[in-house]
Amino acid sequence: MALKYIEEYRDGTLARAIIKKIQAVSKKKLRLMEVCGTHTMSIFRHGIRSVLPEGISLLSGPGCPVCVTAQKDIDAFVAFSRLDNVIVTTFGDLIKVPGSSSSLGKEKAGGADVRIVYSVFDAVNIARENKEKEVVFCGVGFETTIPTIAAGILMGIQEKLDNFSIYSANKLTPPALAALMETDGVKIDGFILPGHVSVITGTNAYRDTFENYNIPSVISGFEPIDILNAILLLIQQNEVGKPALENAYPRAVSDQGNEKAKLIMNQVFEVCNATWRGIGDIPLSGMSPKKEYEKFDAAIKFGMDMPDMPEPKGCACGQILMGLKTPEQCGLYKKKCTPMTPVGPCMVSSEGSCAAFYRYA
Ligand code: SF4
Repeated sequence: MALKYIEEYRDGTLARAIIKKIQAVSKKKLRLMEVCGTHTMSIFRHGIRSVLPEGISLLSGPGCPVCVTAQKDIDAFVAFSRLDNVIVTTFGDLIKVPGSSSSLGKEKAGGADVRIVYSVFDAVNIARENKEKEVVFCGVGFETTIPTIAAGILMGIQEKLDNFSIYSANKLTPPALAALMETDGVKIDGFILPGHVSVITGTNAYRDTFENYNIPSVISGFEPIDILNAILLLIQQNEVGKPALENAYPRAVSDQGNEKAKLIMNQVFEVCNATWRGIGDIPLSGMSPKKEYEKFDAAIKFGMDMPDMPEPKGCACGQILMGLKTPEQCGLYKKKCTPMTPVGPCMVSSEGSCAAFYRYA
């Protein structure tokens, strides 16, 4: 479907036509996972759940970077903020995520120098202006964000900044999809793949997962027509029994992705193992600075290695991120856990499933 203007991707007449097709072809009960938190929010904002046939369930996946950040990494961010002479720079969502004993927000309220930034380049600027202090950037993101973090490190080198480093809790999407498919109890009939990650990775990044698991997979943009179209394609694939990897976001995503962004990412970072909230350790699913860039690796620079800690008691974020539970099935939802008093990151993040349910469901 090739439309020209953004309004066309929000067109009510077109949306109704796709919904009609969905209702006509949908026979089976299906569990479709929107991998990305931005999709979760868009689905709620546009009321997409309410127009789908009863047999179609949408599950939120592990594509909200704040939500999948392991408790030990949140604890590391808090630990940095407690060090003398350190400025911690972070995206806003992270500040309220509770670690085992505190959050960046609480530490800031207690006097720690924690600053919200909009990109890694803001953190570089802070380092340039505060050469007598160490500036640590909390690196939390997927393939969309990692190239810019790499560019931040290259900028640090160019400017000969010795006081700038990043703690990398960055993650890669395809290994998480494979890990989900290997997890007992997880039942997914199709993936709505993240548009913005795919802009960088390209369609080819998902070929191994698709071929290994033969799971219907459609890359989607974020407008309602994009998402409805992706859902229709996934239902059609399931109904005719012909799984495929389809790119339904060709206006932004190519087979190869953004080669320049990938080049910068792979120049500075190398693939490493990573711990995901709820899912646990996934081999080769993270990215940490290569040896030649290790002076920018805050974990090495400060010897920061926090022990793994369990999720907050009663919080089901981990199961929600795997599609095993919905927020409403968490005993704390809307009781102890609200956006004002979040217990887990899925209620904090603007892309979190619990926050989306709370706001729109
Ligand atoms: S409602 Fe709160 S406690 Fe429950 S899963 Fe969501 S974030 Fe965790």
